Amino acid sequence: MYPVKRICYQLIVPIVLILVSLMIVWKWPEIQALFKSTQELKALLVLLPTLPYAVFTMGALMGWRYNNMGLAAGSGVLALSYFITLGFSPGQWSNTYYEAYIFLFPLNMILCAEFIKRYIFTFQSLLIVFLILFQVFMVVVFCGRVDFSSSAIVSKLDSLIPFASIRLDDLSGRIQSFLAMEHLVIFKQIPTPAIISFLIALTWLSVRFLKNRDILLAGYVGALSAVFLSAAANQPEPATVVFHITAGLILIITNIEASFFMAYHDELTGLPGRRSLNESMMNLGKTYAIAMMDIDHFKKFNDRYGHKTGDDVLKVVGTRLKEMSGRARVFRYGGEEFTAVFSGKTVKESIVHLENFRKNLENSKFIVRLKSRKKSSPVKRGKGPAAGQKQVKITISIGVAGPDIKHPTPEKVIKAADKALYKAKKTGRNRVCR
Ligand code: GH3
Ligand code: MG
Ligand code: MG
Repeated sequence: MYPVKRICYQLIVPIVLILVSLMIVWKWPEIQALFKSTQELKALLVLLPTLPYAVFTMGALMGWRYNNMGLAAGSGVLALSYFITLGFSPGQWSNTYYEAYIFLFPLNMILCAEFIKRYIFTFQSLLIVFLILFQVFMVVVFCGRVDFSSSAIVSKLDSLIPFASIRLDDLSGRIQSFLAMEHLVIFKQIPTPAIISFLIALTWLSVRFLKNRDILLAGYVGALSAVFLSAAANQPEPATVVFHITAGLILIITNIEASFFMAYHDELTGLPGRRSLNESMMNLGKTYAIAMMDIDHFKKFNDRYGHKTGDDVLKVVGTRLKEMSGRARVFRYGGEEFTAVFSGKTVKESIVHLENFRKNLENSKFIVRLKSRKKSSPVKRGKGPAAGQKQVKITISIGVAGPDIKHPTPEKVIKAADKALYKAKKTGRNRVCR
């Protein structure tokens, strides 16, 4: 899939969920009236404020079950956001707890996003749990209007550090007035420091998403946007409830999508794997062609330049395969073997596209760093090689077959294509045989 197409695809879940929640908030009086008309539905309305907690619990359990710290911590941070927004903000956002948390929330989202795919019980993961809990403690101490001069513990501190309690009182006052700073006119409901931290987090996560094209990061961008809408609306029901449910669901669904993607795609090349091939073979019509491809002398290449450089070559070949003409669906069959399926094309028609691909690959310049150099770098295409680098040629052998009386099923066609590939190898490699 091309990047733009893939980016749009990955953003579908967050965008659709946010649009739906906006609709619900907009049409709330009508929805409410509808629910109130039936006794059973009326009960659901009463349960509504607890629904976000059910979603966050589900997220946390899934994170724990799938050993994904980002999802578990993300759900926890959302639960905290919901608890504080509902308990301390409505109609009176000048509450210091709320001001502090709405400022810290976007930064916590960055923290969670940096820990996606990390196991739960590792030092780093436990560190973020500690950091989040520590924040809660600090917020209670500095924003809870604690009077330090009358605190027994702090007055003991006074004997060690002169004026400690006065200094702490002063610091707490400064923090509180910073958090409550004059708000920007466009978002009257959110204090300026929080707006800035939302902007920082949105930019950070969006840039990371565009760079990595990881659907999990799209999830964090979506969850952050949903909570921003909740803060901007500043209305407990339905906005706070609905947007927090949305944020929780976005995290959960993008995680499910990511697992689904991983099950069907090969991690190294990003190409669909064997499982996808098996499924797409079940949906072929009468006319089709299947090509089996195998990189030539790849074992020698690995031995000479190292396995890491071999992996880089596979990635580049994968990228080239994605660009193959003729609407071919390409798969990593396994190792250095790939499969292309041309649906609706005959063997003769597909050969043109396969030949183009083979020739393009043969004429590409691959520049690799020699194995003796310690630091290996990705394989590059382009100008001539520098010192310690070498220009190498990568070629591929291809066997192609289509259905006929002897090979009526896709499985048999694959076997025939394999046979043709063997022929291509036997007759000198770097060619297409049928
Ligand atoms: P031929 O031209 O006959 O295909 O020769 P070959 O050396 O390519 O064939 P063979 O099947 O004997 O070797 C395939 C090699 O591909 C063996 C293995 O080291 C390498 N290989 C398979 N998967 C990977 C991978 O994921 N990464 C790397 N770096 N190498 C791989
Ligand atoms: Mg092989
Ligand atoms: Mg090979």
